[in-house]
Amino acid sequence: MRSLTVLGATGSVGASTLDLVRREREQWRIVALTANCQAAELAALAREFSAEIAVVADESCLPDLRAALAGSGIETAGGTAALIAAAARPADLTLAAIVGCAGLAPTMAAIERGATVALANKEALVSAGAVMLAAVARHRTTLLPVDSEHNAIFQCLAGNDLAQVRSITLTASGGPFRDWSPAQLTKATPAQAVKHPNWNMGAKISVDSATMFNKGLELIEAHYLFPVGLERLRIVVHPQSVVHSMVEYRDGSTLAQLGPSDMRVPIASCLAWPGRMETPCAPLDLAKLGELTFRAADEERFPATALCRAAAEAGGAAPAVLNAANEIAVAAFLSGQIAFTRIAVMVAQVMSRYSPSAPASLDDVIALDHAARVQTRELLELA
Ligand code: NDP
Repeated sequence: MRSLTVLGATGSVGASTLDLVRREREQWRIVALTANCQAAELAALAREFSAEIAVVADESCLPDLRAALAGSGIETAGGTAALIAAAARPADLTLAAIVGCAGLAPTMAAIERGATVALANKEALVSAGAVMLAAVARHRTTLLPVDSEHNAIFQCLAGNDLAQVRSITLTASGGPFRDWSPAQLTKATPAQAVKHPNWNMGAKISVDSATMFNKGLELIEAHYLFPVGLERLRIVVHPQSVVHSMVEYRDGSTLAQLGPSDMRVPIASCLAWPGRMETPCAPLDLAKLGELTFRAADEERFPATALCRAAAEAGGAAPAVLNAANEIAVAAFLSGQIAFTRIAVMVAQVMSRYSPSAPASLDDVIALDHAARVQTRELLELA
């Protein structure tokens, strides 16, 4: 039996993870399950999985959680410090699936515990970059990538030497607007943006997928996880989302990982790593699919990937600033405050106006993230 903590248990990745755990219930002991404020949903999961502790990040939601778990014997807690303390509890595996930089401090607490961390929360790595990787090395933590592309690359690299890699190609679905004209993009609504053609995901990553910031953030994530040099990292649009990414070796051999567009496949790879486990996903039927297509990314209609590459090239504070600006701009778009095409414009503006020095610690990253959010909100008010 292995012990597991799920940070962000009530989200899309959290649900996929717990669906797999439910199928092998006797193999897992659940330590902590966390949410932001969905207390009823979290309480139901905590009861079902007999969690040791359930935590809401938003302390105002703690009374609801307490009421829902009264008499269960399950511990409850609320607030950021409680979330971090829960993440620091001993567990063999932590699934880091909080959305946004809000997941950084709890993910770092899990990393500092030195076991295995399966990372879905890409914004945490994009923001903390070298600071997070130094903690991984210092605490001898095993970091497994959950993101389908990085999980694909991880699998294609198994047993091979990074020095033999000629290039790594991240595939991108292109999102719901991949064939839209610039004029149509200006009118894209939040409801249209969150309706991804291939994947069922949370609202923030769905908007990121529509702007292509998701692929840009993944480029930065890949830059940190697989340090082959930025010039060797490529992006190709692959609308069917069947090939999840590829690694080309210097002898001309390209290895790709294929699978259904279902997060349970990469999550299962992390839960069972270095072994394999059953998933309920339908086997890939290539004859039925008929064809797989690929095309170059259009960085004029979707400037996000170029902005992210520039941030990765600049290094230092730039990826954290970019991520914070994007999080605020996406929230503003979702609440109807700005047009879809303003997201990338705002991120570019914040990046050109604000270039603090490189963060050296977790506290530095959190302060930087906070300051970049303030800058972005100020720009929003001017608009
Ligand atoms: P969701 O929005 O579906 O879920 C987010 C989870 O984080 C929920 O449990 C939510 O709690 C919790 N949460 C939200 N805000 C906070 C906060 N301020 N403090 C603590 N917890 C918080 O997101 P997804 O599952 O889609 O994505 C999670 C992460 O995984 C993201 O970083 C995303 O980029 C990455 N990812 C997601 C994929 C997907 O298919 N969904 C694929 C690859 C990566 P509550 O329910 O209470 O709001």
